Amino acid sequence: MSVIVLGGGLMGSATAFFLARRGIATTLIDSGRIGAGATVASFGNIRRSGRYLPQLPLAHRSLALWNRAEALLGRDVEFRATGHLRLIFDAQGLALMRRFAQDAHPWGLDLQELAPAEIRRRFPGLGPEAIAASFSPRDGSANPRLVAPAFAEAAARAGARLVEEAQIRAIRAGFTVETARERFHAERLVNCTGHRGAAIAAQFGEPVPIEVRGPQMGVTEPLPHRILPVVGVWSAEHGAYLRQVERGNVVFGGAVERVRVGADGRAHADPARLPAQLRAVVRLAPALRRVAVIRQWSGAEGYVGDGLPVIGASATTPGLFHAFGFCGHGFQLGPGVGDAMAELIATGRCETPLEDFRITRFAA
Ligand SMILES: Cc1cc2nc3c(=O)[nH]c(=O)nc-3n(C[C@H](O)[C@H](O)[C@H](O)COP(=O)(O)OP(=O)(O)OC[C@H]3O[C@@H](n4cnc5c(N)ncnc54)[C@H](O)[C@@H]3O)c2cc1C
Repeated sequence: MSVIVLGGGLMGSATAFFLARRGIATTLIDSGRIGAGATVASFGNIRRSGRYLPQLPLAHRSLALWNRAEALLGRDVEFRATGHLRLIFDAQGLALMRRFAQDAHPWGLDLQELAPAEIRRRFPGLGPEAIAASFSPRDGSANPRLVAPAFAEAAARAGARLVEEAQIRAIRAGFTVETARERFHAERLVNCTGHRGAAIAAQFGEPVPIEVRGPQMGVTEPLPHRILPVVGVWSAEHGAYLRQVERGNVVFGGAVERVRVGADGRAHADPARLPAQLRAVVRLAPALRRVAVIRQWSGAEGYVGDGLPVIGASATTPGLFHAFGFCGHGFQLGPGVGDAMAELIATGRCETPLEDFRITRFAA
């Protein structure tokens, strides 16, 4: 069997890696640089709390692979199971967390509930006004700059061919991908083109409603390393979140509307939103009040109409598969999606349920 994986973000590079490991002839083609789309812009949070419940089996599969990432890829992608602390500032947040914790338990996710004294004892300096928190000890983060290139390089070592900066001229069923320099053929095609995935699906008669937006991120100057877990908020609104990398910089995001994306497909951070974002971030860690922000950025990301990604086989075109539209929470899922796609393509089935993410849910 031969496969072309279109798009070398985390989804495409992980899919190429797991296909190549199965001995399948794989070509990974990106119209830009591998890992330079939404993946590199990511906050890097590897969290399972707050997810759509039927997505948890895939998230568990992915977490197991994150834990083995260094051994699988031959490189440290800075996955650290530091735990994920989500602070709660009001009764509504507390109800939200308790309901999710109860519902997620049968799906295999155990969240610890922390009282204020326990937050202060275990995480001094974090959320002094919090009335409670959840803690998920096995979640954490990884480095968004390293992970897609690491999967792609490991895929190449397993026999995959990598093609970057390909000017795509045409994609035809069968399958042929024609670029400015070369024409590629394969029996299977995997559409992992991020927010561009809906346009390719539409070309094959499978429309998917997608809105392209950019979460706004920032990073502080390096500081002494004090914050171990990833920190977020339980809130009905779009809460702030932060984490401190081992070099000391604090990366943060959330709390403000996602920016619009221009016709060039690029998302630019809006400096006017920074003060509101910082006010929310300082509530999580008041010691950040006087630190300098050294950079802001954003990244274009596809939000599907129902907030869920599209994963699975095409319903119109045998041999075509989709994995796109990860709606702001795809970083955690990446390794699991790659492994699940490789299983589906190689065997025609997948042990992890993907039914809820089928593309035909938009057919009506
Ligand atoms: C700012 C930001 C913060 C985020 N934070 C988190 C987080 O903390 N936790 C979390 O779980 N998720 C997070 N996400 C979401 C996560 O990063 C994405 O869901 C994930 O990286 C998507 O990976 P992807 O491979 O689908 O897309 P991308 O990384 O966008 O890759 C798609 C690739 O396809 C290529 N491409 C496009 N069109 C074509 C074509 N026609 N032919 C060939 N190649 C093509 C592009 O060049 C690109 O390299 C965040 C996203 C953003 C933008």
